[in-house]
Amino acid sequence: MNEPLSFVHPHANSPWGTYISQVDRVVPYLGHLARWSETLKRPKRTLIVDVPIEMDNGDVAHFEGYRVQHNLSRGPGKGGVRYHPDVTLEEVMALAAWMTVKCAAVNLPYGGAKGGIRVDPKRLSIKELERMTRRYTSEIGIIIGPQRDIPAPDVNTNGQIMAWMMDTYSMNTGTTATGVVTGKPIHLGGSLGRVKATGRGVFVTGREAARRLGLKLDGARIAVQGYGNVGSSAAELFAQAGGTVVAAQDHTGTIFNDKGLDIADLAAHVKEHGGVGGFAGGEAMDGEAFWDTRCDILIPAALEGQISAARAHRIKARLVLEGANGPTVPEADDILAERGVLVVPDVICNAGGVTVSYFEWVQDFSSFFWSEDEINVRLDKIMVDALKKIWDTADRHKITLRTATFAVACERILTAREERGLYP
Ligand code: NAD
Repeated sequence: MNEPLSFVHPHANSPWGTYISQVDRVVPYLGHLARWSETLKRPKRTLIVDVPIEMDNGDVAHFEGYRVQHNLSRGPGKGGVRYHPDVTLEEVMALAAWMTVKCAAVNLPYGGAKGGIRVDPKRLSIKELERMTRRYTSEIGIIIGPQRDIPAPDVNTNGQIMAWMMDTYSMNTGTTATGVVTGKPIHLGGSLGRVKATGRGVFVTGREAARRLGLKLDGARIAVQGYGNVGSSAAELFAQAGGTVVAAQDHTGTIFNDKGLDIADLAAHVKEHGGVGGFAGGEAMDGEAFWDTRCDILIPAALEGQISAARAHRIKARLVLEGANGPTVPEADDILAERGVLVVPDVICNAGGVTVSYFEWVQDFSSFFWSEDEINVRLDKIMVDALKKIWDTADRHKITLRTATFAVACERILTAREERGLYP
């Protein structure tokens, strides 16, 4: 009997609903492994924690936190921690599930996990942020660990937060557990190249896809939504390859320059002002008009569900590179495919971050650190090889790159599931 999950009621375009529909689409391509496909629709373990902290003014505030381990068939859980006011259990479940698929798509020996706290971190002082991070780490400490589940940065979390997580876990276990999180600062066992790795992976998959489409990067027009870690790193690499970044949007505004935004100036502006809004090197633009931007490559690198059906009809790009997780709802996916817009899906496009996280974890275990060149070369090769296999699968079955990525990944996940067998 496969009763639906009792604690979640997905609606079509919610992140979990989107993920479930993506699984349904891949089942016909799983052969005898389809027997195990229900596994993919059920998170293995979900933990909800109360995170009480003392605020600077003496009040006690409570935040709700989560850690979801979606599937551990292929290895320990791996996935970021998000701090955002819209975080819910259902969203974290979807993000954890996409991690399972992503790690398998690039063949890393990991399962999928994700965490988050429903909070607006911009309203916390640095000390409050540290107390919240440490209490959250302690609460999820019963299920994380270097061989169990390894968190990393995601929206609104960074190297400093990873340092506090590593220190808290280490204090609680009486060890120096550098391998418990990735995305750490360099002198705490972090890896060169990790900060920009996700954006680099977006660039590498975009470069390969553009080559196959016959689209030249030199002179290509690029629009980026979300100008944080992922969006800004990808924009920088496309600009270095001769691309023209004509539009950028984040939570502070949307800016446009038909001749191209100066990426170095924009980075300095974002660092100083916390967002692209007010940037003098471009004109302010209506947020919704962003989706009409005349461009060759569109990079959604903010949050889920941004490419709705209505927006999918308006997108001018030939190539969409999903830096964000889950930016395209299933109906929009179909519309883009019908319109001949190629989508490189999140589960391969943004896998560069977890790939270099894997390098970081391996370096921590061996206590031997690689040069940035070595890291970038290995990252490039893993992404190119993974995309080639996915492309071949898509061609063979005449399916989208998303369904092909799920096909490659789910075959690996469910083969591991089958070989391990059910316990007891
Ligand atoms: P970040 O916090 O560095 O940046 C997030 C960006 O999104 C910011 O520029 C913010 O202003 C923007 N944003 C937020 N709400 C928005 C809105 N309503 N409209 C437009 N822009 C908005 O986060 P990040 O690490 O760059 O993550 C971005 C996306 O990439 C997320 O979907 C995340 O899950 C995904 N991702 C991140 C990594 C990683 O290594 N950091 C890896 C894989 C995938």
